This record gives sequence, C-alpha cells and structure tokens, in this order.
Amino acid sequence: MDALRSIRGMNDILPADTSHWQFLESRVAELLERYGYGEVRLPIVESSALFSRSIGEVTDIVEKEMYSFEDRNGDSISLRPEGTAGCVRAAIQNNLIANPCRLWYSGPMFRYERPQKGRQRQFHQMGAEIFGYATPDADAELIILLARLWRVFGIADAVNLEINSIGSSAARAAYREALVAYLQQHRESLDEDSQRRLETNPLRILDSKNPDTQALLDNAPALEDYLDEESKEHFAMLQSYLDTAGVTYTVNPRLVRGLDYYNKTVFEWVTDKLGAQGTVCAGGRYDGLVEQLGGRSTPGVGFAMGMERLLLMLEACGQLPDAEVPDLFVVAAGQDAQTAAIAAVETLRDAQPHLRIVQQLGGGSFRSQMKKADRSGAALALLWGEDEAAAGEVTVKPLRDGQEQMRLPVASLSETVASLLKQSH
Ligand code: ATP
Ligand code: MG
Repeated sequence: MDALRSIRGMNDILPADTSHWQFLESRVAELLERYGYGEVRLPIVESSALFSRSIGEVTDIVEKEMYSFEDRNGDSISLRPEGTAGCVRAAIQNNLIANPCRLWYSGPMFRYERPQKGRQRQFHQMGAEIFGYATPDADAELIILLARLWRVFGIADAVNLEINSIGSSAARAAYREALVAYLQQHRESLDEDSQRRLETNPLRILDSKNPDTQALLDNAPALEDYLDEESKEHFAMLQSYLDTAGVTYTVNPRLVRGLDYYNKTVFEWVTDKLGAQGTVCAGGRYDGLVEQLGGRSTPGVGFAMGMERLLLMLEACGQLPDAEVPDLFVVAAGQDAQTAAIAAVETLRDAQPHLRIVQQLGGGSFRSQMKKADRSGAALALLWGEDEAAAGEVTVKPLRDGQEQMRLPVASLSETVASLLKQSH
C-alpha cells in the first residue's frame, strides 16, 4: 500500500529545524513581553463570516485562498488565513477593549496558494495588535519594536521598511473613482487579473507586479492627492516619530494591502534575499474593524510576520544559532553497568538540572556505543563497565580536547563534570 503523505504545502517541522523555530519564537515573544504585550491563544477554526466580514469578500484571501467547509451541523467554518480577525473577535467577545490593550499571538495560518519557497498552505505568523489608540504613537511603537527585533536577529541591513497612508474610507472611495476612470481608458492594456480587479478591488492594481501595468500607473492619479487632512497629519507625525527613533523607511505611494480593513497607515518590511516572496512582515491601522465586527468603535493597529520567511532570512544572513549538542553522553556495557549509570545520572541531573545528558539505550558493544558518543558532539562521555559498577566508580572521558580519561568515585562525579565542562567552554 502507498504510504500516506502530508497535504501539499503543509510541512512537517523536524527536530533539526525546531531548534531554530524555538530560537526565533522565543526571541520574538521575549521582546513583545518587554514592550507590555500579552499573549492570546485563539482558535484555529472560526466561522467563515468572520473573515468575509473583516478581510473582505473580494480580496484574494477570501475569494480564492480560504479553506472553508461545512461542519457536521452544516455551518460554514474556515481555517484561519490570518490572525487579526480572530484577535479582534476575541477582544470584543471577552471585552478586552474596555481599556486600551496590547496583544500578541503566534501560530499556523492556512491559505490555498501555490506552494513555493517562502509560500506554504500552512504557514506560521507571529503578530501583535494595539487596541484603543487613534494616535500615531501606536503605529510608531509597533514599527520601532520591529526595527529592534531585526537588530536582535542581526538582519537589520537585509530588510527595508516601506510605509504609506491609504487615508480614510471616504478619501479612498474618491480616489478609487478617479483611478477607475483613468484605468478604464486603458482597459485593453491591463492584464486579465487587473481587468477583473477594476470591477472588484481596483486599489489592488497599484501593487500589480506586471511592468506594463506599473508603467501605466506612472500617469495615474496618485492616492496621496486624495488624502484627507487628518490622515495626512497622522502620517506626518508617524514619520517624525520614526525619524527621531532613527528608523529609516521609504514612502511607497503605491503600497496598499491585500486586506480590506486597513485605513491610514500601512507598512511592509521587504527583503531582496527571498526572491519573489520578499515581504517578511506587514501591517497597518484598522480603525473601523472593531465596530464592523460588532464591537464598540475602537481604533486598532497591528502587524503580522511570516515565520518561514524570517527563518529563511536568518539562514541567508548566517544568523541561525548552531545546533545544540549534548554536554554528556552516557555509555554503559552490561545490565549492572546500565543500572548503576541510570542511578548516577539521575543524581547528576538533580545537582545540575541544566546539563544536556543523553543516555545510550538498548546496550551494544562498548566500541559501538563510543562511536555514538563521538558522533553526538558531546564534550564528555561517562563510561560504566562491570568494574566501575562493582566499585561504585565511573570513568569520565573528554571527547574533544585530547585530555586523558579518569576514573573516580560516583560521589565526586558532579564536581568533576562541572570543572571539566567549565574548562571546555
Ligand atoms: P504575499 O503578498 O506574499 O502573498 P500577503 O500580503 O498575502 O503576502 P499578509 O496577509 O500581509 O501577506 O501576511 C503577513 C505576512 O505573512 C506576509 O508578509 C508573509 O511574510 C507571511 N505570509 C503570507 N502568506 C504566506 C504564505 N502563504 N506562506 C508563507 N508566509 C506567508
Ligand atoms: Mg498573499
């Protein structure tokens, strides 16, 4: 029978990589906690209406990328394609927005896309949201925090920040009209995708990757000419916060986001290290979303970063930590020796809980066990033969620096290990 395989675009993450994931996730979580963000853990499945009402009916995500199906009760539910909608739902439902608050989340997201490097069908995001502040210091805090994060990871030189303001929904509506009027005149020069978007989501044409379309847009009306005063001031203030904090950025007047809920600030961190999948982190302000989902009108701003892409970035920049190796590898020849070894090693773990100790299981010849000890990368091997077991002793063998092995009473094992490891570090 054929072996079953995982779903296309949904990958296993195996121990050689999980250490990198743990490194990444823990650093991000640490930084967010230090800025006062609290973690929320939200369901992976939500009612489909949550996403169509927030992300928008005619967005790529809702139109073609969502995993939606009927549950046994006939209700339409979806695997979450992103985190903000669920976070807003939870904030309303649990009345977290009674006062301003800062939240973060982490976990798998699902989109039916064509899998390629940096693009999966199950991928992972960590994101943060601030609820309750309409002022641009909130937008600035998120961006400044991210700039710090890239420094922590040593990839600050490899990412660029692009920002834009897409204004109020009234400003956007006026601009949409002008843009559509202009593009209608050049309809035949647009590709099929953009022609369709002309009816459904014309602003998305602005970030078309098609060079002909981009050339056409050079003479199109500009969004910034339609911005309302309040959005302009907000955007200017944000830029001044970033300038003062020493965060460099480019204003990209064509930056729009693929989700409907944004207003005013939108931003992306992009890199040229990952080919076509160049956006590692994206976000923006969504002042209307809470109300739109049935909550009391509350401003919001947030971001989400793609963890697979971030890992690829760290790898490309040589910033992944070395694989962890054990400190000690325990070898025992014969059953009495194994009995003595297990007891002594547990006592050692009591005394020094931080040590990484791998115990050889299943027996085997001394020679083959020693080979495994060598291959493990451990600094020291602890050896028990019948002799050691009978005498209440242990042999400690340094594996890396050519030092002589030594035999000693089990009672002084902890002290000897501590001093040998200190030397080898
Ligand atoms: P893209 O333009 O690459 O499709 P997006 O605008 O759809 O990205 P967002 O919805 O803003 O992406 O999600 C935020 C981040 O999550 C992205 O910048 C990216 O790093 C990551 N991301 C989005 N979709 C995927 C995916 N299918 N696989 C891996 N990472 C993804
Ligand atoms: Mg996308």
